[in-house]
Amino acid sequence: MNASEKTEKHQLFAVGNHGRTDAWSKLLLQHPKLGAVAGKQFLGQALGLTGMEVSLNSLATGHAVPFEHGHRKNEELYLFISGEGQMLLDGQVLEVQAGSAVRISPSVLRCWRNTGEEPLVCVVIQAQEHSLTQCTEADGFISSHAPAWPQA
Ligand code: ZN
Repeated sequence: MNASEKTEKHQLFAVGNHGRTDAWSKLLLQHPKLGAVAGKQFLGQALGLTGMEVSLNSLATGHAVPFEHGHRKNEELYLFISGEGQMLLDGQVLEVQAGSAVRISPSVLRCWRNTGEEPLVCVVIQAQEHSLTQCTEADGFISSHAPAWPQA
């Protein structure tokens, strides 16, 4: 089953379900340069994201991403959900664990590895650096009516 089969698209929103994080190790990305990558799935195309890319990631115990990568325009946020590991950021080692949130500038060469006893699970969000011109209170608004939940 690919991501699009798990995604329900509506006119103004899209919904995907990739299961509990302990099942993310079964995700399989077909990467054009790397071939099959276990434990990884991008969400952007399936959900129709237009301002960011998001990936779900699960790295098995004892495993490391076998290459470093950087970006040309996009910063990345790594949100670690479970496990323990390390990131290598331009040669500097950073300890990460469940709850760690790591922002990385585009040019930084990055890699990560699992040093713990359970899968290292993270969500990675990438968006063009300096593209966010407003957010939260400047962008969001509260409607004038109460939520219209259907009656049971
Ligand atoms: Zn990246």
